Amino acid sequence: MSEVETIADDKVRSIAENVARVKARIEQAARRAGRDPSEVRLVAASKMVDSARIRAALASGVDILGENYLQEARQKIGQLGAHAAEWHCIGALQRNKVRYIFDLFSMVHAVDRLELADEINRRGERLGRSMPVLLEVNLGGEATKSGFTPQALMDEVEQLAAMPQLQVCGLMTIPPPAPSPEAARPFFQELRDLRDRLTQRGMAGLAFHELSMGMTADFEVAIEEGATLVRVGTAIFGPRPAPRHA
Ligand SMILES: *Cc1c(COP(=O)(O)O)cnc(C)c1O
Repeated sequence: MSEVETIADDKVRSIAENVARVKARIEQAARRAGRDPSEVRLVAASKMVDSARIRAALASGVDILGENYLQEARQKIGQLGAHAAEWHCIGALQRNKVRYIFDLFSMVHAVDRLELADEINRRGERLGRSMPVLLEVNLGGEATKSGFTPQALMDEVEQLAAMPQLQVCGLMTIPPPAPSPEAARPFFQELRDLRDRLTQRGMAGLAFHELSMGMTADFEVAIEEGATLVRVGTAIFGPRPAPRHA
């Protein structure tokens, strides 16, 4: 196990303040919408954030970490411990990486196509384990974005229901880039409506209680529209360097 570097007290303090501020905003947004704040869980999106800063967030009451890259997640889990937090995979996942997820993550947020679901199910069968997952929905119709279209999801959900080791818990979306949080609201409403339609079909083995939606720019609007998991990075850890995986 490698050492976790230490960081200056003022950095620890600013992360602690950010976490407190984000949690207060979550609570206020939930109350505005007449929801119980405990229905909304904060996932700290910690890609490209080092273990020392993550540790400061954990000490401030963060208990779910969302990672995007397997290598990076494995390294941090080694440094901080599997039980330091619930580790969620929030990024795009390639089929050939599925073999690693059962050792690392307790939930996968972005199952974006049937083939990936099938691979997770097969791997689960081999291990005798199931994996809690969310189905990613592409609501903006952006060709470059991954995810089931709402129609594909309605058509293919029976096939998903036939995958016993795939524990479907809900839906996830990343709306198209928007000029304001309000501009994202229709997409969050649409995800909730889709969730309601899927729930009404009442398929055995599938649950849709989780809605993973909302990031730094728009998590309060997402909560007003029913988010149960918000994935917040920048508001906790500050701006990230440009992605190296682009
Ligand atoms: C990075 C990331 C986030 C967090 O984004 P911020 O705007 O920094 O809050 C949320 N969800 C996913 C899938 C991400 O990759």
